Amino acid sequence: MSNVISTRLLVLGSGPAGLTAAIYAARAGLSPVVVQGIQPGGQLTTTTDVENYPGFRDVIQGPWLMEEMQAQAEHVGTRMVWDHIASVDLTRRPFVLKGDSGEYHADTLIIATGAQAKWLGLPSEEHMKGKGASACATCDGFFYRGKKVAVIGGGNTAVEEALYLTNHSHDVTLIHRRDSLRAEKILQDRLFAHQNIKIIWHSEVAEFVAGGTPEALVGLDLRDVRTGEISRIDVDGAFVAIGHKPATELFAGKITLDADGYIECAPGSTRTNVPGVFACGDVMDKLYRQAVTAAGTGCMAALDAERFLAEMEFEALQAAE
Ligand code: FAD
Ligand code: NAP
Repeated sequence: MSNVISTRLLVLGSGPAGLTAAIYAARAGLSPVVVQGIQPGGQLTTTTDVENYPGFRDVIQGPWLMEEMQAQAEHVGTRMVWDHIASVDLTRRPFVLKGDSGEYHADTLIIATGAQAKWLGLPSEEHMKGKGASACATCDGFFYRGKKVAVIGGGNTAVEEALYLTNHSHDVTLIHRRDSLRAEKILQDRLFAHQNIKIIWHSEVAEFVAGGTPEALVGLDLRDVRTGEISRIDVDGAFVAIGHKPATELFAGKITLDADGYIECAPGSTRTNVPGVFACGDVMDKLYRQAVTAAGTGCMAALDAERFLAEMEFEALQAAE
């Protein structure tokens, strides 16, 4: 392949984690290269209002925030490359990554490929995204103050989202396809004890129902999985909480992943089990999944990579003496 880029630090992914890692690494003089992937700017480019990223009193727009982060990363010396990585070889250093339009040789690698929320896959759900259908209560719950909301799912995420939404709504309904939850007992106890949460068992969403001008979610048609019977509930917001899928297919069998496919890091660090490979953001964090936590671990990954390179280069110097 003719187009080979060699670098001390390659950052895979251009969301808040990858770009923050790049900002710190560039300022440390590492001249990082960021491979942006097919979603330059990451998940925040798919949303509008962001009200919880620190530093902005007024509501900011997700795509604008990511443009600013990219501009800052470039300003301090990051090289941005528009490519998508299709294969990686982590068995030797420099690591070799092959993309659709180039090959990359990297002494260290920061993986910041994120995670995507799973959706139910209904056309009406797709149509109502941003108009009442959401996959992040922490992000969007605030927009439903005093309104009726539903959460779909029965795991820890669904239960935590339902409990979180009671900060904004007095009318929260959890919809689950079975008659028992997968969530931890302590969360279930809190859920069952909460007077503002009702549960609809044995039910799945058949349709997201739109209405009004401008168009917004007004309800959900639910199917009883035992009888097939359809009934409607009125809601203004519906939060799909049926799990996330970390973007780690590339790394299966190459670095240690947990049972849900997230990259495992040493406690309190971003180190993976492969020396010189670090991970940050949603790809290694199934609990918080916020822009600010992604940025925080991005900073950690850059500092960890910088330390690793310093040690590696010191050892090489000593060996040469
Ligand atoms: P991501 O943002 O997912 O970025 C992943 C990057 O990896 C992308 O650039 C992608 O192109 C790249 N990539 C993936 N695979 C490859 C590959 N093979 N090769 C090269 N590149 C690759 N959080 C908040 O704090 N506040 C909010 O208001 C908020 N609202 C949200 C609204 C929506 C609709 C969504 C979906 C999420 C929202 N979040 C919000 C969550 C927040 O967006 C994420 O927590 C954050 O983006 C995670 O950052 P990340 O850098 O880890 O990954
Ligand atoms: P999860 O545990 O996989 O649960 C997903 C839930 O969604 C399940 O109840 C499942 O139903 C339901 N579901 C899946 N597909 C569905 C579909 N198509 N239609 C309707 N319902 C569907 O996912 P999660 O809750 O996001 O948790 C993921 C991991 O993160 C878990 O390991 C969890 O423990 C962890 N986590 C931990 C915390 C915490 O410790 N506080 C918080 C959040 C997440 P069934 O039960 O019928 O399969």
